[in-house]
Amino acid sequence: MPESPEVEAFARWLKPQVLRRRIASVDVPKPRLVRPLRPAAFAGALQGCRIVGLRRCGKCLLWDLEHPGGRPDLLVSHLGMTGVWQVLAKGQPLPRHAAVVLGLGGRTVVMEDPRQFGHLRLGSDSMPRLGPDPLAPEFTAEELSVVLSGCRRPVKVCLMDPARLAGVGNLYASEALFLAGIDPSTPADAVAPEAVVRLHRALRDVLATAVERNLRALWSDRPMLYQQGGASGSPEQGGLWVYDRAGHSCHRCGAPIERLVQAGRSTYRCPRCQAR
Ligand SMILES: [Zn+2]
Repeated sequence: MPESPEVEAFARWLKPQVLRRRIASVDVPKPRLVRPLRPAAFAGALQGCRIVGLRRCGKCLLWDLEHPGGRPDLLVSHLGMTGVWQVLAKGQPLPRHAAVVLGLGGRTVVMEDPRQFGHLRLGSDSMPRLGPDPLAPEFTAEELSVVLSGCRRPVKVCLMDPARLAGVGNLYASEALFLAGIDPSTPADAVAPEAVVRLHRALRDVLATAVERNLRALWSDRPMLYQQGGASGSPEQGGLWVYDRAGHSCHRCGAPIERLVQAGRSTYRCPRCQAR
């Protein structure tokens, strides 16, 4: 599932390719993604708009638009579980699961979404309420401490709550907790202050590294890390420490990685490196 590093990479990759361009045509092969609007109403609202900005907020990609008369608008897009953005070369056929297709005058931008849990909505009311963004330069360990305080749920579940912390999902929460040496089932408000500092550094490192890695993948037309499914190789070679590695040996200590279920989602941990 795309998390903030994937969406950030899409934003930086798409921006130079779409900025200042006018939306000449809009097709909606998968109407479910633009609900509650009908495809014709969605297309009518976007057609003729110029793209004047592209930025990320949590796991959302925000398209700043300008109508022909100058009125500003906002398109909020979310990739859901399986969404990706693609830029097609002239004459290139649409991908099989194309959901929304924007014709930008000689350039076609497509959101593909096989499982159709993504969405595109107009207006700033579509923005979810989010906690602080750990990818933001100003995000501090003190802020993370506030995020965790007063939360008695397991720290992994707390990190994945978008109202507490923006953009962190299953993969990066698992990896950051491993790097910080914290058991994912520790109650969030029981994480020791020195462990919060380690977790802050681990989150920042894991997310920033993933943005750079995803950007390189996009520019070279390779799949992103989360699309590879149980990435192999050591973390130095671009693999993962614990996520989706149940039963495999810990890259650090050799103990078998465990899988547990928290709030209905798989969590992975090394029983030795992340002992309570
Ligand atoms: Zn270990």
